[in-house]
Amino acid sequence: MPLTELPCDCCGASMQTGLRPWHFVCPGCGLERSTLEPRINDLDTIDEIDRERALAPIRDRNFGVLLAWIGHYVDARATKARRPRLLDVGCAHGWFVEKAQATYDALGLEPDEAIATRALARNLPVRGGYFPQALRDDERFDAIVFNDVLEHIPDVVRVLQGCSAHLADGGIVVVNAPDCRGLFYRLSKLLCRLGRTASFDRMWQLGMPSPHLYYFDTRSLAQAAGAAGFDLIAERTLSSIVTKGLYARIRYAGNVSRVRAALIAGAITMGVPLIRLFPSDISVWVLKKRGG
Ligand SMILES: [Zn+2]
Repeated sequence: MPLTELPCDCCGASMQTGLRPWHFVCPGCGLERSTLEPRINDLDTIDEIDRERALAPIRDRNFGVLLAWIGHYVDARATKARRPRLLDVGCAHGWFVEKAQATYDALGLEPDEAIATRALARNLPVRGGYFPQALRDDERFDAIVFNDVLEHIPDVVRVLQGCSAHLADGGIVVVNAPDCRGLFYRLSKLLCRLGRTASFDRMWQLGMPSPHLYYFDTRSLAQAAGAAGFDLIAERTLSSIVTKGLYARIRYAGNVSRVRAALIAGAITMGVPLIRLFPSDISVWVLKKRGG
């Protein structure tokens, strides 16, 4: 595959053209990226109520697992006088912040004004705006969390560098993101090579207000972390399959028929024990400032 003039955002190598005109792969660190354009505050293509219902079961379970896991790295820092501070970047409706409030002094940032306003109306500690511009210079956190967010923001190294300035001593960055080693992503690539591009396009959220700009794995994320002055200190996977609500999740983008969604949901449900034997499509990485 030909090399391009596009440098890798993680390691600087020239990227190779990928499977679609907007898709590129790094021969150096394995990063996959797109040149798709975000259009936040510009488009409203998804019925938010359907989307909330569709994603609730997987969100609830994974957020619980994630909070317990983050606790291994920051709870020791809590004192009676001060609860640990947690920042959720791109917090959407504030679900994670809401759950995190039990343990943390939590704050969410959300760039989509309509969504931030709704979260505020529910009395959640959510602030409208982008990271890190929406933070005051002196705001510090023990954990800065990106839940399905880092893969949507351009220039990953710069974003991680922005975390440096807002971390308390010993603080961590938590990146929860799709993993290019995952079974479903790899199947979508296989289909794409066979000329069936729909599932690959959907994996990248082509045509959505905030498409995926990156697909990381441990190697490319460690590379970006290193370039920003962080070490990758832990990783784990989260399940991308929760059978409850599966039909609604397949339907929610509005472009899958009822019959087709039911057939896909049925096939996946039967295949779950087998699917769990393969690499997960969701990874979580914990980063710590070098020497911090
Ligand atoms: Zn690279």
